[in-house]
Amino acid sequence: MFPTPRRRSENGNKAAVMRPRMPFVDDATLRRALEAGLGADKVRMDEDIRHAYSTDASPCVVVPRAVAFAESEADVLAVLRSCRELDVPLTARASGTSLSGAAIGPGIVLDTTRFRRILDFDRDRGIVRVEPGILLSELNAYLAERGVRFAPDPGSQDLCRIGGMVGHNASGYRSVKYGQTKDHVVGLRVLLADGTALDARDLPVDGPEWKETVGKVPALDQIRRDIVDHRASILASRRAIRKHSCGYHLDSIVEALDRGMFPLASLFVGSEGTLGVITQVALRVLPIPARRITVLWFLDHFREIGPLAAELFALGPSAIESIDGNSLDLLGRGAHDIPRTAEAMLLVEFDGGDLDAIVREIVGPLSSRYALSRPADVAEGADRQAALWKLRRSVFPTIVQRPGPRKAWGFVEDPIVPRERMPEFIEFLGDLARRHGTQAGIYGHVGDGNTHYRPFFDPTDPGDFERMQALRREFDDAVLDRFRGAPSGEHGIGRLRAETLPRVWGQAVYDVMRRTKDALDPRGLLNPGVLFSSEPWWASWGGLDSRMPM
Ligand SMILES: Cc1cc2nc3c(=O)[nH]c(=O)nc-3n(C[C@H](O)[C@H](O)[C@H](O)COP(=O)(O)OP(=O)(O)OC[C@H]3O[C@@H](n4cnc5c(N)ncnc54)[C@H](O)[C@@H]3O)c2cc1C
Repeated sequence: MFPTPRRRSENGNKAAVMRPRMPFVDDATLRRALEAGLGADKVRMDEDIRHAYSTDASPCVVVPRAVAFAESEADVLAVLRSCRELDVPLTARASGTSLSGAAIGPGIVLDTTRFRRILDFDRDRGIVRVEPGILLSELNAYLAERGVRFAPDPGSQDLCRIGGMVGHNASGYRSVKYGQTKDHVVGLRVLLADGTALDARDLPVDGPEWKETVGKVPALDQIRRDIVDHRASILASRRAIRKHSCGYHLDSIVEALDRGMFPLASLFVGSEGTLGVITQVALRVLPIPARRITVLWFLDHFREIGPLAAELFALGPSAIESIDGNSLDLLGRGAHDIPRTAEAMLLVEFDGGDLDAIVREIVGPLSSRYALSRPADVAEGADRQAALWKLRRSVFPTIVQRPGPRKAWGFVEDPIVPRERMPEFIEFLGDLARRHGTQAGIYGHVGDGNTHYRPFFDPTDPGDFERMQALRREFDDAVLDRFRGAPSGEHGIGRLRAETLPRVWGQAVYDVMRRTKDALDPRGLLNPGVLFSSEPWWASWGGLDSRMPM
């Protein structure tokens, strides 16, 4: 089976593979409704904008009917009203750097980039309250002047926005120490599909506020009971992985319910825009570390990444990142002074503990146990550290611009496995690509057991596309059954992994997720096709004339 090519409409513009919902509302009516609610300057339905918003950073393409620009909660309410009245679905969007196709949709795409104020900063409680469209980099620049930061730091940190980070439960380079977005969200304000505003935070289930909340949103008590009824299955479905972005975090909710608390915000973190539109986010901030040490290792043997990383965990790193030899070749060994013999690079950071003792251990006993391509490079100064991180950050943009028809496609790019199985898993990934006649970029957050894996294929070549399918099948089986891992550590399920979601947690737990979605969004208006879909992973693939993977 070959991926469905994008249809071209009569005027030559690219059109969606997605089918329209029924009942169908004509464009003029849709435009009138949106403009009445928002004003003409916040609505666009021309081909250019629909084309621009038909992609995110994944290989998927879905052309929306309209793009609405929200600047306030009132704007979001107005758009939701049109969605309900005209039965047109809505996809909330921040920067659109989703790697799983979660920020595109067939109805109205709600651009939140103008909805971006910092509302207040409570220094004593260490909490900042923001609107969802604020850029992470902008927020952290504001916080830095106050000596603090929002800790999760995805590779897209200069591009992504808080609403999108909450949507995907993003993490990043330092998640080995600082966890995921969900670990830092204190509360959310959410608009549900029916327009109800919810202040989502931890609520004791025997208290008056819970009663008041379920009085307003009875579906929440139905969800609570469903989760309680399936407590055993939910707990049994857990995997020994350090993080995930694979649907609703039902296990955290079970744990909180055991303490008599419903963690309402946790329900929405990682929900990929399928349960409500977030209009405010309260985040916990942390002090900026006084001192950091960054260490760069080049290893002659790729297989030594796992054992070295395992030894480093004991020293309490704040980041452990790896890059494989193929990716080092693409970066350019000469340009970056990368040793000819290096099969792997490890970048490790420490920002706490006895840093001097750690350095002694690193340059001494630890280094002597591995075949290093050259001695470890220990960077203390900010400039040198920034240069080392730049090398790590350049992997993604370099790898996706690989020359030739075989590109580094992201369709198996975010697996996470139990950390202690990383050495075996990394070997498996290299071998998997080889067995399917290609090579792959393998890099990522080795400290969490989370790898970014991008095999090189040309999906316009029927043979290669069959190889992609076969590789994906084998990959899913191995990640889920052999390694007991999950297909997404941080990039989300989106459209690319929706067909795999039931296998991650098992049918019973998947059904609880599905009922949770149906209870809060019974008409399926919010981000249809994302998280819950039985369509194969290539169903919304960009087509035979796919653009460069981003
Ligand atoms: C170069 C590059 C590097 C990356 N590195 C990392 C990494 O290290 N770690 C990582 O976790 N991710 C990474 N990503 C993926 C991506 O950047 C993150 O998932 C990011 O958090 C998405 O933010 P965004 O602002 O682009 O959100 P979008 O892509 O616009 O949206 C993401 C999801 O959030 C939902 N959403 C957005 N706003 C709202 C709202 N107001 N209410 C409800 N739902 C909403 C959307 O519907 C969608 O489901 C990387 C991506 C790129 C391109």
